[in-house]
Amino acid sequence: MPSYLQWLRFSWLPGLLLILPLAQHLPWLDLASLNNVQLPFLLLVTALLLSLFYRSSRVGLAALLLMFFYGTISLEILLKQDFSLYLGLIALNLMLFSCSRDRSIWSNFGVAWLLILGAQGIALFWLQKYYGPLAQMFSLQHLPAWLLALDRFSPPLPLLACMAASLGALALLALYPGPTAVGLFSCILLTLYGVWSGMPLVPLMSVAGFLLIFSLLGSSYELAFRDELTGVRSRRAFRYRMLTPGRHYSIAMIDIDYFKKLNDRFGHQVGDQVLRMVATQIARNTSGELFRYGGEEFVLIISGRDLSAAERQLELIREKIAAYPMRLRSGGRISGPKLWRSERRSDQQIKVTVSIGLAQRGKELRGPDTVLKAADQALYKAKRGGRNRVSVRA
Ligand code: GH3
Ligand code: MG
Ligand code: MG
Repeated sequence: MPSYLQWLRFSWLPGLLLILPLAQHLPWLDLASLNNVQLPFLLLVTALLLSLFYRSSRVGLAALLLMFFYGTISLEILLKQDFSLYLGLIALNLMLFSCSRDRSIWSNFGVAWLLILGAQGIALFWLQKYYGPLAQMFSLQHLPAWLLALDRFSPPLPLLACMAASLGALALLALYPGPTAVGLFSCILLTLYGVWSGMPLVPLMSVAGFLLIFSLLGSSYELAFRDELTGVRSRRAFRYRMLTPGRHYSIAMIDIDYFKKLNDRFGHQVGDQVLRMVATQIARNTSGELFRYGGEEFVLIISGRDLSAAERQLELIREKIAAYPMRLRSGGRISGPKLWRSERRSDQQIKVTVSIGLAQRGKELRGPDTVLKAADQALYKAKRGGRNRVSVRA
């Protein structure tokens, strides 16, 4: 999957929102239970506590913002009739949260954001106190008639704010995919739906609480099953996948050649970049499922009966990695093909190759562990044979 489509992995979260419009037409899908006034608090506090646990300032700030909004409206400190205007403002704030990196809410960054949110609340309160409902202020009554006519054709301000925030959050999501970014994007979509459909406050905030909790659960799944450095699935995910491997599949073991030397010579940071490059090249050129087995070893599960097709795929991967123009620039930075124009004489080429062992499930190799062991033996054959090659267990 190309990196800009990675966010599709989490599309189930915004997909959950489809329940809302559906629920209106399906009598058996009764969302009345979400109408308990305490429920939004319960869910948002849970999201806040979990966010402190996971050190996710983005979710923590979102939970605090929504709690603050729900509390002030429930206590009638802020006027309920400006409800959709606030939703527009919330959407913009959520989009700004998703621009940032996660850190502790008690960091300077978190405290600065809390102050900004507080200032927005105070500003809204004072505006209302002196001008009455803000909806009137923004109704553009004071504008010339021709502009008012234009206003009839354009979406109302809150809807416009929510749409702009959704587009911004979607762009951020494509750049930096992850469960938290998807969670915030889903919350923004929810505000858009809230403004558009006039959904009541209590179920709206309950669903927002659910979305934030789900996004944190998504993050914990990623922590457990994904390798942080390379972004591919982890060994634990491989172990679980091997419980149901299917009938026709092959396993390939891929190991970087002389990686220890590369680390010793160029440092571990360069080693890490090489690991990322190798993972990307494998993922781009295979139909199989990729996992990081450990250290500088990856495994691929390639389904199907065609062993020679699997071998061709692995040959392509091997060639792509060996031909990848990775250079250590004079400043110690690494560059890939995109930066070829800035190539200098002092740049040092780093040659990376991999050895691959392949084994297919068959009459002799029945259990997944036996297939894996055979792939490992084939890998050692490739290493002994001189490295930078694919060896198939006959
Ligand atoms: P061979 O060609 O026989 O495979 O030799 P090798 O040096 O690649 O194999 P070896 O297993 O001896 O070395 C693996 C090295 O991988 C040792 C360790 O320092 C390094 N390594 C393991 N995990 C990481 C990591 O996450 N980042 C970096 N930079 N290095 C790692
Ligand atoms: Mg190794
Ligand atoms: Mg190695």
